[in-house]
Amino acid sequence: MITLLLASNNPGKLRELHAILSDLSVRLTMPADLGLTLIVEEDGATYAENAVKKALAFARASGVLALADDSGLEVDALDGAPGLHSARYAPQPGATDRDRRRLLIQNLLQRNAPRPWTARFRATVALAGPEGDFDLAEGLCEGEIIPEERGSGGFGYDPIFLLPDLGLTMAELPEAMKNRLSHRARAVQAIRPALLRRLNLAPRG
Ligand code: IMP
Repeated sequence: MITLLLASNNPGKLRELHAILSDLSVRLTMPADLGLTLIVEEDGATYAENAVKKALAFARASGVLALADDSGLEVDALDGAPGLHSARYAPQPGATDRDRRRLLIQNLLQRNAPRPWTARFRATVALAGPEGDFDLAEGLCEGEIIPEERGSGGFGYDPIFLLPDLGLTMAELPEAMKNRLSHRARAVQAIRPALLRRLNLAPRG
């Protein structure tokens, strides 16, 4: 069976990617399974650049096909922030997801931004082989930021990201539902044809 490395060090993303791809006949592996402790600096100017950089670095280091995502939250009233910097939004060392959520709300309140605070999650997924070849796909999930935290699932900004049609935050969604509706699920869906093509063509390993 062919091996696909999920190229991330973020436990929340790894859990989601694992669930989203679990129906494929492919051996899913994570960096820790291979003893890989690679840290890739996310210094690209776009989600795509960062996703490709991560996927290529992990594919080259492991010698197997690797899938990476770069994602972020874009809040319209903050001119698209935190965007590419979503993971590092709060400046203090050791800042947590909760610190970043608080800072985001604080900044929206400070601006007196009228509600609804429309926003979207964006994910770009890159699939890369050890030879340097890659495919890219993008997924979006539209919603709005709410000032109070709701729910205990997911990670990152999930407790303050409301899906208005469902009346639930991402952190209140059952896991299986987030894994159908999320930006990451949509990006993986969009890259599936490239993945299937590679799985059919690749030598059995
Ligand atoms: P990166 O892709 O490693 O740069 O990290 C993206 C950051 O965006 C994460 O650390 C989270 O803060 C945020 N993010 C991305 N996807 C999600 C999600 O599905 N839920 C909540 N926050 C997310």
